[in-house]
Amino acid sequence: MRVAILSPEAVPFAKVGGLADVSSALTKALHAESVDSLLILPLYDQIDRSGLKLFDDELGAFWRGRAARVRVWQSDELVAPAYFVEAPRYFNRGKIYGDADDHERFAFFCRAAIALARKLDKPLDVLHCNDWQTGFASVEMKRLRRHDQFFAPTKILFSIHNLAYQGLFDPQDLWWLGFSDEKNVFMSNGAASALKAGAMSADALSTVSPRYAREIQTPEQGYGLDWLMRARSDRLAGIANGVDYEVWNPETDPHIAANFSADDLSGKLECKLDLLRRFGLPQEPERPIIAIISRLVAQKGYDLIRDAARGILDTGAFFIALGAGAKEYEDFLQSWHDVAPHRVGIYKGFAGEPLAHQIEAGADLFLMPSLYEPCGLNQMYSMRYGTVPVVRATGGLDDTVQNFDSTTGSGNGLKFGPYSAPAMLEKIREGLYFYNQAEVWKTIQQNGMTTDISWSAAARKYIQLYNEMPGPQ
Ligand code: ADP
Repeated sequence: MRVAILSPEAVPFAKVGGLADVSSALTKALHAESVDSLLILPLYDQIDRSGLKLFDDELGAFWRGRAARVRVWQSDELVAPAYFVEAPRYFNRGKIYGDADDHERFAFFCRAAIALARKLDKPLDVLHCNDWQTGFASVEMKRLRRHDQFFAPTKILFSIHNLAYQGLFDPQDLWWLGFSDEKNVFMSNGAASALKAGAMSADALSTVSPRYAREIQTPEQGYGLDWLMRARSDRLAGIANGVDYEVWNPETDPHIAANFSADDLSGKLECKLDLLRRFGLPQEPERPIIAIISRLVAQKGYDLIRDAARGILDTGAFFIALGAGAKEYEDFLQSWHDVAPHRVGIYKGFAGEPLAHQIEAGADLFLMPSLYEPCGLNQMYSMRYGTVPVVRATGGLDDTVQNFDSTTGSGNGLKFGPYSAPAMLEKIREGLYFYNQAEVWKTIQQNGMTTDISWSAAARKYIQLYNEMPGPQ
């Protein structure tokens, strides 16, 4: 089975959020399950080109009324091939997203990606699109396969990693982007939506956890498309992401101060001291560290953290935050650090992977009080590193974390329900109560470290979906 995964980001090449981890891990995990998987990405200027080889010097992609010549590069770093579409005009921007012409940039990427798929030796069995940036490819493939025998067997899966980002743009642009025939599938509340068009055109939909698949069918979390999610609910699967054990493994992780395992957690102390040092905090290892790594957006629950800031300090814990995003939250983190420089450590900006690993390894509790969370990855990375996640019961957080029950000793984390600062604080205090009982704490840590959250289980669910989903009608 040949599957092309189209994504706007993938580690180690280009990353903004969890989609980058997922795109690469799924490509690799499918390959390990004997699927002929391949990944297609834009060639952003930030990507290191030294490991790439030229795959095609003159791919022809129909664009704005003429055949554009595009260069395609290849990397074998993921074992399965990753292809990169070069277009300096669109992808040499010093950033991945955030320009007014993002819809044009990714429409071009999709055109070129399909032209690339057309040139491969064998047709695709599945075109697997991810998020709004690839919605144009879903539309294009549906159109092409009607009359192009090469694509006649190709099924289209559209995966939603976050329904809140829909790629909205002025419908007048559909004309020169070459999608005027599909205007109806794009139109959503007066705007053109790349996500809606992608979801409408696909043979099946998936999202990144079972609970989020149910939540996006409700008006509260449907972002205006709940009707579509309900209408397509028989073709909407929820498959939770996994963890790439090659990348996130405390036994082998090269980025952390000392390696450790579920059987021997002793190295975690060294990681904790190293983390305190990195954030300029006093070497007081008996004091617990609560950490967070996330984009600084309302979705991640920063309003709760701001409301509970005083109460968090009153618990006596350190707080370490790594995040980039909205200025109001960056300002809050800065002022919190300024009032308690010996207790609050912050890094504002997008750090390289090593710091995220060092935080996971050195912290004791990992906080994810999300308003909503399609899947979430850091709660799973935390479990792997014996760092107990404290999460709100929403989306994938609810599916992947089981609340610890002190009477039975089962559970791999701590979970609270209401989206409120007092509920979050109460759960943090409960966590710290367990932290102070060394044996109980070790049980929660080990429960997390031994939970099977490998990608291979998730990849097998995708393969089943690829096989069972309906094809072209
Ligand atoms: P989302 O995709 O909504 O951002 P996820 O929890 O699914 O959230 O994934 C976030 C990923 O991005 C994690 O791998 C996390 O470690 C990483 N990350 C988020 N913010 C930063 C940052 N400022 N620096 C480095 N890594 C970050």
